[in-house]
Amino acid sequence: MGVVSAFWNSMGGTAVYGSAFDKDLKVAHRRVTELQDCYIFCGSKYVESSLKGIYPDVANDLDNGMSVIFTGTPCQVNALNFFLSRKQCNIERLLTIDVICHGTPSAQLWEDYKNWLESKYHSRLIDYSFRYKGDGKKQRMKYPVRACFENGEILEDTFLSRLYIELFFTELTYRDSCYSCKFSSSIRCSDITLADFWEYKPVMGKSIDRPELGMSMILANTEKGECIVDAMCRDAQANQDIYMEQVNNNRLLEVKKNFGAAQIKDESVKIFRDEYNSFGFEYILNKYAGNNLKGRLKHILKKAVLKTGLLPMVSELRGH
Ligand SMILES: Cc1cc2nc3c(=O)[nH]c(=O)nc-3n(C[C@H](O)[C@H](O)[C@H](O)COP(=O)(O)OP(=O)(O)OC[C@H]3O[C@@H](n4cnc5c(N)ncnc54)[C@H](O)[C@@H]3O)c2cc1C
Ligand code: SF4
Repeated sequence: MGVVSAFWNSMGGTAVYGSAFDKDLKVAHRRVTELQDCYIFCGSKYVESSLKGIYPDVANDLDNGMSVIFTGTPCQVNALNFFLSRKQCNIERLLTIDVICHGTPSAQLWEDYKNWLESKYHSRLIDYSFRYKGDGKKQRMKYPVRACFENGEILEDTFLSRLYIELFFTELTYRDSCYSCKFSSSIRCSDITLADFWEYKPVMGKSIDRPELGMSMILANTEKGECIVDAMCRDAQANQDIYMEQVNNNRLLEVKKNFGAAQIKDESVKIFRDEYNSFGFEYILNKYAGNNLKGRLKHILKKAVLKTGLLPMVSELRGH
């Protein structure tokens, strides 16, 4: 949000594009023109976001003299850059922001999970957060989820509501292009890159209280990006609402190394897909996401460790 307000141009108008849920919780890019509507883009959605009709809309806005902020995965930003250069659009008023990304599952996988969860709770899913921070007062898992149903039921990090994220962690669910992704490198095609900053300790050389509340990395890749990040720093200092600190770039590059590393598509991905196609969604959920007795016991154990306050440390040791 800080990036957006730092770039806001009240004169010619500003259009912001990002990934959001629609009313059926399908994930697609949307356009908003009011600052207060940008909240719909908050929260990572670990699903491919549909870009139907979006690139021509961005070109139109730029041609009409508006400022445009586009957020997306690196491949989406790269495709936008390509589209706009083919159209010979003036991109002076365009700010692009990408996330470090190692893969997105297809919309179908998310749809199957959504339908499956709805059938378990006999109610329509109306909201789902893949990274639910809440008010920050409660200790949560590293990737806390929250599912809200039409009948009022709310699940926070329950066994069944976490199965999609468990499936995502297997790294078997991405689309073909993700397994040969060209964008997982320190050479970025956006003005600004956002990422998690779990690796803050070796970079900053100090501990931070409750890092799970939200530690993001903001990388300025271009002069335009640098201007915006500088403006955010000034805002943050004046308002004291977020804490920002510049870190040593070389140390950062050392720990972020591969910027999301493209995963190698190996035999296990092929097997996963064959089983998904042949035996259906519930089969892969049981086999790969741990929807079984062992998985349930693991979940109970994790929750118990969470109560002791040691989960962040255990997660750090295990990777997630
Ligand atoms: C699919 C995906 C994979 C990621 N993998 C990694 C990783 O491996 N390592 C890492 O350090 N960080 C990764 N991230 C980034 C991380 O999840 C956070 O986005 C980042 O830390 C910034 O957090 P935030 O809370 O500030 O922003 P967030 O609230 O998470 O959102 C940032 C922006 O991302 C856009 N966005 C959200 N979901 C999608 C989507 N499905 N497709 C396109 N754009 C989207 C939104 O429009 C929003 O503007 C990934 C993000 C996504 C979406
Ligand atoms: S891994 Fe690469 S191809 Fe896949 S969504 Fe991310 S940027 Fe795009």
